[in-house]
Amino acid sequence: MTTTIIGFPRIGEHRELKFLTEKYFHHEIDEEKLQAGAKALRQKHWQQLHTAGIDYLPSNDFSFYDQTLDTAFLLNIIPEEVSQLELSDLDKYFALARGYQGPAGDIKALPMKKWFNTNYHYLAPKFEKQTTIKVRGAKIFQEFQEAQALGIDTRPVLIGPFTLLSLGEFSDDLQAQDFVPALITAYQEIFTKLKTLGADWLQLDEPALVKDLTPADLALFSALYEPLLAQKAGLKLLLQTYFGDIRDAYETVIDLPFDGIGLDFVEGLQTLELVKTGFPADKTLFAGIVNGKNIWRNNYQKSLAILQQLPVEDLVLSTSCSLLHVPYTTANENFEPAILEHFAFATEKLQELVDLSEILSGNDSQLLTQNQALFAKKRIQENTALATKIANLTEADFTRTPAFAKRESLQAQALNLPLLPTTTIGSFPQTREVKQARAQYKRQEITETAYDAFIANQINDWLAWQTEIGLDVLVHGEFERNDMVEYFGQNLAGYLFSQNGWVQSYGTRGVKPPIIWGDIQREQAITVKWSAYAQSQTDKIVKGMLTGPVTILNWSFPREDLSLKETALQLALAIQDEVLDLEAQGIRIIQIDEAALREKLPLRKSDWYSEYLDWAIPAFRLVHSQVQPTTQIHTHMCYSQFTDIIQAIDDMDADVISFEASRSNLEILDELKAQHFQTQVGPGVYDIHSPRVPSVAEITNTIEEILAKVPANKLWINPDCGLKTRGVPETKASLTNLTTAAKEIRTKLSAPVTSRR
Ligand code: GLN
Ligand code: ZN
Repeated sequence: MTTTIIGFPRIGEHRELKFLTEKYFHHEIDEEKLQAGAKALRQKHWQQLHTAGIDYLPSNDFSFYDQTLDTAFLLNIIPEEVSQLELSDLDKYFALARGYQGPAGDIKALPMKKWFNTNYHYLAPKFEKQTTIKVRGAKIFQEFQEAQALGIDTRPVLIGPFTLLSLGEFSDDLQAQDFVPALITAYQEIFTKLKTLGADWLQLDEPALVKDLTPADLALFSALYEPLLAQKAGLKLLLQTYFGDIRDAYETVIDLPFDGIGLDFVEGLQTLELVKTGFPADKTLFAGIVNGKNIWRNNYQKSLAILQQLPVEDLVLSTSCSLLHVPYTTANENFEPAILEHFAFATEKLQELVDLSEILSGNDSQLLTQNQALFAKKRIQENTALATKIANLTEADFTRTPAFAKRESLQAQALNLPLLPTTTIGSFPQTREVKQARAQYKRQEITETAYDAFIANQINDWLAWQTEIGLDVLVHGEFERNDMVEYFGQNLAGYLFSQNGWVQSYGTRGVKPPIIWGDIQREQAITVKWSAYAQSQTDKIVKGMLTGPVTILNWSFPREDLSLKETALQLALAIQDEVLDLEAQGIRIIQIDEAALREKLPLRKSDWYSEYLDWAIPAFRLVHSQVQPTTQIHTHMCYSQFTDIIQAIDDMDADVISFEASRSNLEILDELKAQHFQTQVGPGVYDIHSPRVPSVAEITNTIEEILAKVPANKLWINPDCGLKTRGVPETKASLTNLTTAAKEIRTKLSAPVTSRR
């Protein structure tokens, strides 16, 4: 039995790639140094896989920013304004990723979106009239040769044309079909070139196949692959899917002359059944059996039970998706052995693949016995009181009274805010100074008193500055938080934290998802101290800032022995305590961030409510259902891709919601109107994911565009997300422009700033 993986974390064991790339962004190293560092990392990773005993290694799973952007770049799917910039190829690539503001021009970054049901983000390729698809990049070829030079034959990886088109944005009246012939030609050119270089296999990633597919989608798939497979240039093609099963495409796919098909047996609920209906003898099945998304040890007995049912002769053991979504290794963690033995990060998953292969080949029975002993252990002590409390929840626990419309007018009177109130999403820049203070405190290098004084000072400075530029609803700035989920987890029983468990979120950004180990309970007040402090320093309203239960869950590594629903309710009860404490301390606006609510929406529509929204939305309501009518509940969601679940978002029954609409477009607003969305909205008037500063005119324009679709008395003016990843100068410049723009529009609407809403 042989083994492979779909992809490996490219960021490096110690996030080397992040630091290297950021140095390049800050002009501290040149391109040559960056490339050399990247090459060394790739080499280390290949050698590691090789030493671990993995049989088939991927290449081109490396990326400086994002693999979808790499594929678009390779195929010359580059907006005209960027091709024309007088910049190196690498800088054009980064301009697409991050925007560019400098002597060569001023362009916005490509839209950044969530990668299927993960917390990874890709850059959406833009297909325009001028787009001329051709092979222009060389990365995939160079990396193949690079491994070859080390004596390692790899299987290059590329996003397949179907997924590329399905992720693309099309300008004018263009559509996917328009680009089919050019894509076929270009992919075939890549096949030929790879074959010439000595490649045996090519992996085409087609995760878009796990979604609901219409007959038109399937026709597009066939229109791409029939001609492609007719001329493979002697290369073997692996069609790789992940994040679910391919029930709509299975028949189509097995009838096509692919050489290998990669299926997900972890998230793919129907994968096993599909394969049991038959799998062609002339194809290799790449069975994704080791979970590429979670950090728990693989249960060998369960995996073997699946593998042994497969009516397949030619089997390669693989991961369920790229290991990009899990941290690098448990070797740098200091959990006690009784805990650590339950975890497998990317490196340890390699060993699991090799173990499974050994067991299946009948070489080692000890491995199975040991694994069974691990799973037989009693890991935690259950909290039975909590389970009873959850079992006894009733409809009233999930319902806030009075209804929204009544609350809206009560809050207008109580809060006395101007028309188009301005605010931010919560965090201010996490400067070196801020991070250093937190780190020193954690290492006990400074006293609690010194640390508290530092945080208080930051809060006071930023409160004063917010007041000076005239923001209406202030925030304390979240300086005490490393991360919006980890910070909460640290104060909740049931959580564990890794030291180095970084996972790439986008570009050079990583997150360190905490691990839900046991039952959740709030141990003490979490945010009350700093929110109450900030409110005590000003007469203006300071918004309390919390992370909601669904986001905490979605950005943690969840348990595999408790349902997500049950875990969400445990979290909701803990955050409910926090909300009520804040309210009792005089906090009048409380924002409960559900940044990641959309993220775990099942990829198939038919599963949306039954598998997810039916518990996720009530979990959010449970958090705020008990507050006073005049306490205003805000929520924030990253990204505006919720056009299709607007009703569910309204059912969260928040009073105000902010979201990202600036980086994609304002289409969502038409839908809000069409569906009579009640909740007040802050669609985000500029993009914080890029360092460029929007001018007053640009923001004024955006607000006017929004006002054409949203009534003024429902509209809030804010950036599209928290500002913690930004620098201070650009933050101050941007927010100053934001408040100026809001004031200009208010004047235009000729509503005096002091008028009641
Ligand atoms: N309140 C958080 C912040 O401002 C929200 C972050 C997020 O939406 N990702 O950082
Ligand atoms: Zn956000």
